[in-house]
Amino acid sequence: MATLPLFLNVLAEQQAALERPVDAAPAPLPVPNPTKSFWIDTPGANPLAKEGSEGPLTADADIAIIGSGITGVSAAYHLSRLLAQAGNTERSLKIVILEARDFCSGATGRNGGHLTANFFAEFVAYSALFGVDDARRAIALEQRTVSEIIKLVEEAGKNSELDLVAGGRGHLMFTELEIAAIKADYEAAKAAGIDVSKVEWLTKEQVEKEYGASYPAVRTPGYNIWPLKLVTYLYNLAKEAGVNSSTSALHLHTNTPVTNISEASSSAPRRWNLTTPRGSIAASYVLHATNAYASHLLPHLRGPSGIVPTRGQIIATRASVSESVLTRSAFTGNEGFEYWFPRPVEPGKTEPLVILGGGRESTKPDFELYVADDSAVNPKAGDTLRRFLPAVFPGRYEENREPEMEWSGIMGYTKTGDPFVGPVISPANPDAYKGQYISAGFTGHGMPRTFSCAEAVAQMILADIEGKEWTIPEWLPRHHLTENRLQE
Ligand SMILES: Cc1cc2nc3c(=O)[nH]c(=O)nc-3n(C[C@H](O)[C@H](O)[C@H](O)COP(=O)(O)OP(=O)(O)OC[C@H]3O[C@@H](n4cnc5c(N)ncnc54)[C@H](O)[C@@H]3O)c2cc1C
Repeated sequence: MATLPLFLNVLAEQQAALERPVDAAPAPLPVPNPTKSFWIDTPGANPLAKEGSEGPLTADADIAIIGSGITGVSAAYHLSRLLAQAGNTERSLKIVILEARDFCSGATGRNGGHLTANFFAEFVAYSALFGVDDARRAIALEQRTVSEIIKLVEEAGKNSELDLVAGGRGHLMFTELEIAAIKADYEAAKAAGIDVSKVEWLTKEQVEKEYGASYPAVRTPGYNIWPLKLVTYLYNLAKEAGVNSSTSALHLHTNTPVTNISEASSSAPRRWNLTTPRGSIAASYVLHATNAYASHLLPHLRGPSGIVPTRGQIIATRASVSESVLTRSAFTGNEGFEYWFPRPVEPGKTEPLVILGGGRESTKPDFELYVADDSAVNPKAGDTLRRFLPAVFPGRYEENREPEMEWSGIMGYTKTGDPFVGPVISPANPDAYKGQYISAGFTGHGMPRTFSCAEAVAQMILADIEGKEWTIPEWLPRHHLTENRLQE
């Protein structure tokens, strides 16, 4: 195989770095001046950017959601939808979303835009850690999430408004070691009864002919989307559900960081007081949808047993061939360190803009772990990103062409890759957080998981409000639950 200008087979080294004991400080608040991302900073793309950032603050809420990324907004969507479905008109629940910066300006507004479910990846490792049933559920969760989002978008005829593209996704395999690991996952998943009928294996020659790169690949169905536009749509649905049924009222305050949460006095009507620079908010329930930043308010989640802020980097670069040559397929490569796809061609242009993320392997041995500053980019990662596509697809990208945009975003890594979903539980004081919930720690792979995990926490909160027992959905991996994470 051709020599590529990047570090190969370093996933195991990253895992070792992630698991290394570190006396980590809690995550900081999101920095106020992030790099500009294509998704957020394209003019007109973020109509809710400053929503509720001025004027009176909602001082009282049944449920306060911290974070306006895909998790926080999906939770608001599910809460409003479930309340409207239940049709309980005796009481309207007041829900408030609090966002430190502009609307959806965290990982969701700065990511790679891939909305692709896992079909078999990591099956061997996940089964070894948590058993085959949970490995099956990890795949079921992703397949379900993607199909629910696609259904929502397609039924409303919003495909082109949200830039939803069903281009499929190929994974280019650069080394024999990687090929062996991927084949082992595929065989194990197949043996466990996972439906792998949509998985296609392409030889190096087939990939060369179809895509212009000389590496074997494995291809699965997959989508890409404009993540911020999806989240804006979900927010509008949540807002309307409340307005139309009077079962919920949704408020959003951007540029309102929560700096502290304290217990209210026993005589107060609400359990928690949330402090912000604009005043305090009393709430009965709190949902931490803060992903990489979770340990700022929940310090027991700092360090390798919790959620490790990890900086990712993206460039938007112009291809030098047309869409018909490039195809609309998304790709990943190099054990997932790199991921890219061509955007729909803008009017007046002939070559697509390609969104390419990765380059973190060239920052080893640290891999940008514990870096929570998205106001800057890493020059080493940037250099790898600039050289990657011309090297993999000779003739399809101009060498030394400068990207049109470059930005960073902060992912929330956990050592098993699983998010924490459920009531907040501190091992030192299990009862200290009654009424607080979390769905965070998506480890750079949130688009096919967050929407459903948010649904699970929304169900938990509503069950608690109604004094009912929550029934765990079959598709939710048991190891995602906070109650099963206390020994880590
Ligand atoms: C560079 C990059 C590329 C990625 N590429 C992909 C991809 O292609 N496909 C994929 O599936 N996943 C990808 N991911 C991961 C995916 O974006 C995340 O898993 C997902 O967006 C997490 O959503 P979230 O809502 O949980 O977190 P976020 O979107 O980060 O939202 C959390 C929000 O909480 C706010 N916040 C934090 N603390 C506070 C506080 N104290 N008070 C108020 N607000 C607060 C933040 O400002 C932020 O807006 C990528 C991530 C990055 C960074």
